[in-house]
Amino acid sequence: HDYTKDDIRQIVKDENVRFIRLMFTDLFGIIKNVEIPISQLDKLLDNKMMFDGSSIEGFVRIEESDMYLYPDLSTWMIFPWGSERGKIARVICEVYKTDGTPFEGDPRNNLIRVLKDMRAAGFTDFNIGPEPEFFLFKMDEDGKPTMTLNDTGSYFDMAPMDLGENCRREIVLTLEEMGFSVEAAHHEVAPGQHEIDFKYADALTAADNIQTFKLVVKTIARKFGLYATFMPKPLAGINGSGMHINMSLFHDQGNAFFDQDGEMQLSSDAYYFLGGLLKHARSFTAVCNPTVNSYKRLVPGYEAPVYVAWSGSNRSPLVRVPNSRGLSTRLELRSVDPAANPYLAIATILEAGLDGLKNQIEPEDSVDRNIYRMDAEERSESHISNLPDTLHNALKDLSTDPVMQKAMGPSLYRSFIEAKNMEYDAYRTQVSKWERDQYLELY
Ligand code: ADP
Ligand code: GLU
Ligand code: MG
Ligand code: MG
Repeated sequence: HDYTKDDIRQIVKDENVRFIRLMFTDLFGIIKNVEIPISQLDKLLDNKMMFDGSSIEGFVRIEESDMYLYPDLSTWMIFPWGSERGKIARVICEVYKTDGTPFEGDPRNNLIRVLKDMRAAGFTDFNIGPEPEFFLFKMDEDGKPTMTLNDTGSYFDMAPMDLGENCRREIVLTLEEMGFSVEAAHHEVAPGQHEIDFKYADALTAADNIQTFKLVVKTIARKFGLYATFMPKPLAGINGSGMHINMSLFHDQGNAFFDQDGEMQLSSDAYYFLGGLLKHARSFTAVCNPTVNSYKRLVPGYEAPVYVAWSGSNRSPLVRVPNSRGLSTRLELRSVDPAANPYLAIATILEAGLDGLKNQIEPEDSVDRNIYRMDAEERSESHISNLPDTLHNALKDLSTDPVMQKAMGPSLYRSFIEAKNMEYDAYRTQVSKWERDQYLELY
């Protein structure tokens, strides 16, 4: 919606909105909130809301910590829940410095910057359709998640009317009230695991939607006594949670990936974009799979990708070209997990693709057999490399790719790598139960 300041003032009156949550996202993809009472509305609309950025991850600046939140009025939304005294709205904000320029450390600003480069390259939109998966765990009396799953269902199961079904239905209804167009909601392969797909949108809106989506899922789950987690691999031995990213570039004439006469009805732009994706796949992995735990999902046997390859038909490779053509011609990147900061992930994916277009990078031939059944030699003959197997290795690839530095901007790039190396180090120096079980009595 293109709301004007006056529209917002009117809505606030008509709907009795009493509080506004100003939302933005930190380096790690965590939503940050500042809540203001409605008396501060004018100040907000005049871009005069100040906050102290020094305690926010990735926002630390030595010179000055005062920053401004400029509301993006098109993201205005009233939460369907609220107090009896009045409604609560939210608006997503851009972080600005005191000199009136966008703060480079704000991942959303960074995506806006990369989207400008895309327009300069002749495209109008980067469309993103995410498929987020999540687990529902039971909660204890203190509202803490337990490790007990909420059901024993599996893919597309018609479970008896259990808590999970009801909860998922309530999530879908809430999302629809908030303006989401939900395309599908179903039980996933693992017990307690669900997926909700919503309609694709331009990259910025899609990233905003992903953040709102997580908030809604967690909020509604709580009402059912359940804890929703987007942790990539909460339990060993069963599927993890991915967030496949469907993507397409549009120009004035429509979907730039579609060509009636192209091989597989894909345009040369689609192939170059794909070439870029595959070339930089190892280096954007740290951003799209940003936790130590992410790498426990990217292992053979659980429908998550392990190898850098693409296919038109099967689901084992990193990139799949789903069957639909015309407006829906798209590439599906299957590595991304829901712990990723959506603004950063989409920026790195787009920059990788644009690099493919600019340098006319040809992808290797598609691999239409099950890669998991190929041995190392067969894979190397087909030029299939592995995705990084740890956060540590992923960070090495990220930190040596100038295209990724361009995608994130020097400051986000530096702080991301620094923070994530510290995270890996903290993990590396732990001693786990597995090690004690394995070695304590053996040695
Ligand atoms: P899958 O084939 O993996 O089951 P789904 O049908 O569950 O895929 O999800 C398809 C996703 O792709 C939806 O979010 C949908 O809106 C999105 N999508 C459709 N067309 C496009 C497009 N042109 N660009 C990007 N995403 C698209
Ligand atoms: N849960 C799987 C993953 O980790 C994906 C399952 C699917 O194909 O939807 O990516
Ligand atoms: Mg799925
Ligand atoms: Mg999918």
